[in-house]
Amino acid sequence: MKPANSVLASFGTTVFEVMTRLAIEHQTINLGQGFPDEDGPDNIKDMLDRATREGPNQYPPMLGIPELRQAVAAHGKRFYGMEVDWQTQVMVTSGATEALAASILALIEPGDEAVVFEPLYDCYVPMLRRAGAEVKFVRLQPPNWTLPRDELAAAFSERTKLVLMNTPMNPTGKVFDRDELDFIAGLVQQHDTYAICDEVYEHLIFDGVQHTPLITLPGMAERTIKIGSAGKTFSMTSWKVGYLTAAPELQSRIAKAHQFLVFTTPSNLQRAVAHGLDHEQDWYTNLSVELQAKRDMLQFALTEIGFDVMPTGATYFMNADYRPLGFDGTDVDFCRHVTVEAGVTVLPVSALYATPDVDHLVRFCFCKKDAVLQAVVERLQNFFQA
Ligand code: PMP
Ligand code: GLN
Repeated sequence: MKPANSVLASFGTTVFEVMTRLAIEHQTINLGQGFPDEDGPDNIKDMLDRATREGPNQYPPMLGIPELRQAVAAHGKRFYGMEVDWQTQVMVTSGATEALAASILALIEPGDEAVVFEPLYDCYVPMLRRAGAEVKFVRLQPPNWTLPRDELAAAFSERTKLVLMNTPMNPTGKVFDRDELDFIAGLVQQHDTYAICDEVYEHLIFDGVQHTPLITLPGMAERTIKIGSAGKTFSMTSWKVGYLTAAPELQSRIAKAHQFLVFTTPSNLQRAVAHGLDHEQDWYTNLSVELQAKRDMLQFALTEIGFDVMPTGATYFMNADYRPLGFDGTDVDFCRHVTVEAGVTVLPVSALYATPDVDHLVRFCFCKKDAVLQAVVERLQNFFQA
């Protein structure tokens, strides 16, 4: 047989799938892959039922149904004061994943450079490389993951086509602050490039910190693609409804990729999400309050057990260094060890680096029922403190 595409063939199965399979095999509590164990609001499920029954269940418009595109524009205005024309600036996608793919395919020419921040969400690099980009990595360092400005400036060149960033950030739980965003925006403009800003965790921020979309910074409206996900905003990760906001010219370029990728997204899901954005704001703004309490509980308990826990200000995720517990293997070894021996599965953070040389951190996903987190803590206590 002739070989398959060499870029994709060079990657294994995504770590999220691997860890979840391992958790199922060993019947553990799975804090590896990031997903909540409670669904979002019933009202949007009711709307999904209604939309399915009422129909039409035929291809919706390529860019998304008007009511969802209007809801995304109104959401941008309510939360961030964005003036968005839904007809020319909003597009619905099949998850944030497809928004990322379509944006990358629309902008990257083979040989272009793309700047990313490590550690990073696992689909970024394969997607960029498959599109022909040369990827330039800028590493954020634990525990505070502050932006290394000189390194970032040095990562840009004549050939830079775009920067792909994620705030609030998976897996670090970092929220880029205004100063950092200003610095990034300055470089993007100086080098006449684009920014893809993955903001799927925009509503999952703690401690009263505000999210600032990169697209709202001076000079960035024409160059930035803002990406969101109903999966995260409504705790419905299987729904795979995403949306992007970009200037008309950019949006129409991305639509060219979208039309040949998936063309459109299920209309019943779009109606349910539109209903949610318009009418379930209390639900999704309260979610961060609940998550913050879970974060506090888990951070305290893991610290008591002896982990060195990194602060996290957002998302579903908390990272910890297990070396103070006396385990001297890699993070992959540790994850296997606690899966098999303690009945708890976590994620090796090295999987979220292109070069897996940072291999002593594990990621805990804490968007779980309190009783589940309690059980995790008990299992780890019994295992490490016995
Ligand atoms: N970006 C980040 C940073 C994520 O953590 C995720 C996780 N699921 C996605 C994108 C994908 O979102 P979706 O499920 O809407 O495709
Ligand atoms: N975003 C989730 C995480 O980081 C998982 C997404 C997936 O399973 N593809 O864990």
